[in-house]
Amino acid sequence: MNDQQKYSDSHINHLVGALLAADDLPPIVQAGNPVLRAVAQPFDGQLDPQELSALIDLMRRTMQAAPGVGLAAPQVGIPLQLAVLEDQYEISPDITAAKNRHQLDFFAILNPSYEQLGPELASHYEGCLSMSGWQAVVERPALVSLKYDDVAGNTLTRHFSGWQARIVQHETDHLSGTLYIDKAKIRSLSNNAEFALHHSDPDLSGSREILGF
Ligand code: ZN
Repeated sequence: MNDQQKYSDSHINHLVGALLAADDLPPIVQAGNPVLRAVAQPFDGQLDPQELSALIDLMRRTMQAAPGVGLAAPQVGIPLQLAVLEDQYEISPDITAAKNRHQLDFFAILNPSYEQLGPELASHYEGCLSMSGWQAVVERPALVSLKYDDVAGNTLTRHFSGWQARIVQHETDHLSGTLYIDKAKIRSLSNNAEFALHHSDPDLSGSREILGF
């Protein structure tokens, strides 16, 4: 498949125009849809600043309504290297400590890439709005450097640790057609009800024993 031809600028414009013209928030595309497995197009001005701003606002509202802490453009059917991130949820002190989870102010990233910093890895259950109802354990770098363009066209580099680093990696991975399940300990896969019953302890030793991962 030639992604370059498949996702031309005019195609992306058409898709975004349809999303922005709709009255409702867009449905979140589910695993199995080809757009989630394609390499998204780098942003190079396909949308004018007003359209880009409106798309980011729509994605933010869609993420909040889900609710989630990140949303990549392919998840609303747009094959463009754009994602939004925000974590303002109240989390219990135990979970905050166990997952090194801290609030993350809203921001949008274009054309992102990340690199692992240091040797430390962290394993936690994570989910995806495009694999609704499921979670699995993913081992990821605990500290990353994220390079991205902001909406004004500035190229920035920021470091993220803990749960923020996980969000950054998860959303950036979406833009190269990678879903968390590709990196997960597959035997850890749990639906949300079973997760609540058996796997909500951030110490995974019990889950490892029960599920054999
Ligand atoms: Zn996701």
